Amino acid sequence: MRKQIVAGNWKMNNDTLETAALLDALNAAALPEDVRVMVAPAFTQLTQAKTLTENTAIEVAAQNMNAAASGAYTGEISAKMLLGIDIQTVILGHSERRAYYNETDASLAEKVTTAIENGLEIIFCFGEELQERKDNVHFDVIERQLRVALFDLPASAWKNIILAYEPVWAIGTGETASPEQAQEIHAFIRQLIAKQYDAALAENTSILYGGSVKPNNATEIFSMQDVDGGLIGGAALNADDFLKIVMAF
Ligand code: PEP
Repeated sequence: MRKQIVAGNWKMNNDTLETAALLDALNAAALPEDVRVMVAPAFTQLTQAKTLTENTAIEVAAQNMNAAASGAYTGEISAKMLLGIDIQTVILGHSERRAYYNETDASLAEKVTTAIENGLEIIFCFGEELQERKDNVHFDVIERQLRVALFDLPASAWKNIILAYEPVWAIGTGETASPEQAQEIHAFIRQLIAKQYDAALAENTSILYGGSVKPNNATEIFSMQDVDGGLIGGAALNADDFLKIVMAF
C-alpha cells in the first residue's frame, strides 16, 4: 500500500530561531498516524531540525545533494554527509534547481543513481512549464523527464522513490492545477510506471502534487484517486497552514 505524504520544502527560509519556532508549533500538534510528515530545511538547519524532531513522527529531508562521492566541489554536499547526520531523504530535481542551477534530466539521473546507491530515499520533482502546457506537449515532457532520470533504475530501487509532480506554472504563483488536471497527470504517470515496470510497482509508488497547495484547496486535491499527498512550498512556512494541509486527507 502506498503512503500518504505531506512534505514541506522550506527552500532558503528559516534561520535558527525561525526553525525552532516552526518545529515547536508542529511538534505541539497531534499528527495523523497514516500520513508521513516531512520538512526539508536548508542544509545549515538539518542537524537542528533532526534534534528538535527526535522522538516525534516528523521526518527531516534535505533539499539537494551532489552526484559525486566527494572532491573539489566548493559549496556542495554529498550523500554520505547527509547520511552522517541521519538524513534519509533528499529532494532532487526541484524546478528552481533546474531553472537557476542548470540541473537537467541527465544530471539528475546521476544524482538519482548516487542517492540510490547510498540507500537514500528520493523525492523526485518534475513537471512541465506553462508554454509546454499551452503547446499541449506536457505529457511528452513528463514522460521524458521520468524516462531520462528514473526509468533506467532497477525495480528494486523504486521502494526509495517518491514522485512529486509540480507543474512549474503552479509553483509559488498562487495558480493551482485543478484537481482534475492533477488527477489526469498522476494517472498518466502511474500508467507509465506500470508499462515500464509493472502494475504492482506503479500502485505502490506515492505520487505527490506540488504547486500552490494551501489549506483551502488541499482536501479537494488530495481526494483525487492518484494523488497521494503534496510537496508544499509557501504554506509550509506557516505552522497553522501546514498542519491544516497535513490534516486535509
Ligand atoms: C514547491 O516549491 O515545491 C512548491 C510547491 O511551492 P508552492 O507550494 O509555494 O507553490
